Amino acid sequence: MAELTLRTVEKRFGNVQAVKAVDLDVEHGEFIVLVGPSGCGKSTLLRMIAGLEEISSGEIMLDGRSLNAVAPRDRDMAMVFQDYALYPHMTVAENLGFALKMRDMAAAAIEEKVHAVARMLELDALLERKPKALSGGQRQRVALGRALIRDPKVFLFDEPLSNLDAKLRVGMRMEIRKLQVALGTTSIYVTHDQIEAMTMADRIVVLKLGEVQQIGTPIDIYQRPVNSFVGTFIGSPPMSLVPARRRGENGEAVLAFGRGHDIRLPPERVEALTRAGVDQVEVGLRAEHISLAEPGDADGAAFTSDVILVEEHGADSIAVVTLGEREVMARVKPGAAHVGDKARRFRLDVDALHLFHPETGRRLV
Ligand code: ATP
Repeated sequence: MAELTLRTVEKRFGNVQAVKAVDLDVEHGEFIVLVGPSGCGKSTLLRMIAGLEEISSGEIMLDGRSLNAVAPRDRDMAMVFQDYALYPHMTVAENLGFALKMRDMAAAAIEEKVHAVARMLELDALLERKPKALSGGQRQRVALGRALIRDPKVFLFDEPLSNLDAKLRVGMRMEIRKLQVALGTTSIYVTHDQIEAMTMADRIVVLKLGEVQQIGTPIDIYQRPVNSFVGTFIGSPPMSLVPARRRGENGEAVLAFGRGHDIRLPPERVEALTRAGVDQVEVGLRAEHISLAEPGDADGAAFTSDVILVEEHGADSIAVVTLGEREVMARVKPGAAHVGDKARRFRLDVDALHLFHPETGRRLV
């Protein structure tokens, strides 16, 4: 049985439906990331799991027991907040031990646990400092330590890395994940940063306007987004969407992007379009689906464009080029394309590109 279960959980604030009928089964030890743009309801969902926000309808269960009527402090969950929520007048050691003191644990036992957690998070040398004498990264470690020390059944993270600079964020996300793997504690992590979602999650829950769009492993979601919203939200650089019209019959099909950019589709993709009964599609292209063409590449998969811009990433370069009326990104070898290059030939990976319904955005194939 799943450890944490959400059954048609909803939240209404007056007329605003912040969370709509969310179903989720979280397995023991799983690291789940709730991700979506601002206002999609991810914090509200997390706060309902924590018990900090009442649910409007539905049920939340932990190990088969309903939590609906259980107070936050009795849920056996520990939350790590974006703003750290440390007590400014207490030392690091006091901050770490506070929850245990509230539970009437003996002073010697608290000290032992504080030292164990401080060792784990490399806070040993800072135990007598107050929060204001710590860096942002150190404060975040203390906040993490306060959750770890309680040894809860579930960790809840609310955008814990948002206040850190980019480099520290990368380091901390690995540290959090390593600790979580070592402890095996079930975790729900909220972020608006799709890179955190991709790199940290066992499974990602993508939300939009209070509704779950897709639940899956990072690779599932990256490779088979259910709609163009998920496709463009997840992935870096972002997926480009280009409208195209289907031409041709008898199992043959060409995607006409405009400006003479015609691409021949493989038969199984043609069938999917026929089944869906659409002639106009939205084509989703990731940078790795477009590369510089080699001399032997078939014309049916190639198009010609000037190079508008090149971003060097070290291991590869991203070239911005034109397909039909839109700009798309191509992944090329470092130094292989330059700003202002004229009429370069690019190749589309026709087996990998995504086809979405032009109105609903639903995945066709
Ligand atoms: P962000 O990334 O900006 O924090 P979020 O995805 O976490 O956004 P929530 O904070 O969960 O989104 O908010 C979801 C929706 O519910 C928003 O439309 C928000 O305005 C609304 N909302 C949240 N809290 C309240 C409240 N107390 N009263 C009324 N509306 C609220």
